[in-house]
Amino acid sequence: MDNCTLAGGIVGGDNPAHLAAVYPVVEIFNSIQGEGYHAGISSIFIRFGQCNLACEWCDTDFSKWDDMTVIDILGIIAKFPAKNVILTGGEPMLHDLWPLVDCLRKRGKKIAIESNGSIEIPEGLIDWICISPKDQMYPQVPIKQRKGDELKVVYVGQDLSLYDQLKQGFKHHFIQPCYFQNQSVEWNGRNFQATEKLVKENPQWRLSLQTHKWMGVD
Ligand code: SF4
Repeated sequence: MDNCTLAGGIVGGDNPAHLAAVYPVVEIFNSIQGEGYHAGISSIFIRFGQCNLACEWCDTDFSKWDDMTVIDILGIIAKFPAKNVILTGGEPMLHDLWPLVDCLRKRGKKIAIESNGSIEIPEGLIDWICISPKDQMYPQVPIKQRKGDELKVVYVGQDLSLYDQLKQGFKHHFIQPCYFQNQSVEWNGRNFQATEKLVKENPQWRLSLQTHKWMGVD
């Protein structure tokens, strides 16, 4: 196969086995990161199918996907000028991400991940690690990825002292009010207010809001 003819601007030097690797992909899109440290930055999102948890307030449908090769993925990504690629899900760490990451890096992309932290991330795989732990819901599921760039806690009323140890491994600490579609407007409003109060009382945490939802974009 002539690498130069492949979609995605193949520059040569790609490992053919990496290009042929297959992933369950729900969607790939270019949007503005709406939450956390990189809010406001144009990013390419790759949403993987499957998750090892089932949080009751999860607003992501990761149950249906297309099996795509890395070549397929690169072909879509080539349409977008954004440099940042965010691997999200579902739980992206359920999949061996090395082949995809290797090919993305060869195209100058910076790789970020949004993970629930229940699977350890190999050293050097990811440029920006954002862990959003769900042990407030699943105390029996240990957080194995205990260091990274960004800890993003979804607030549903839990005691923040739950994160006293975990937060030591992260540079930036965000707390984000859960928007729970199955709950009433009043419940969500109260939870937003409680999160605001919590950040005022605990200024080492920064407020993260899902601004993309206000804009009505993905
Ligand atoms: S870990 Fe994330 S993707 Fe998985 S069920 Fe919970 S909220 Fe949804």
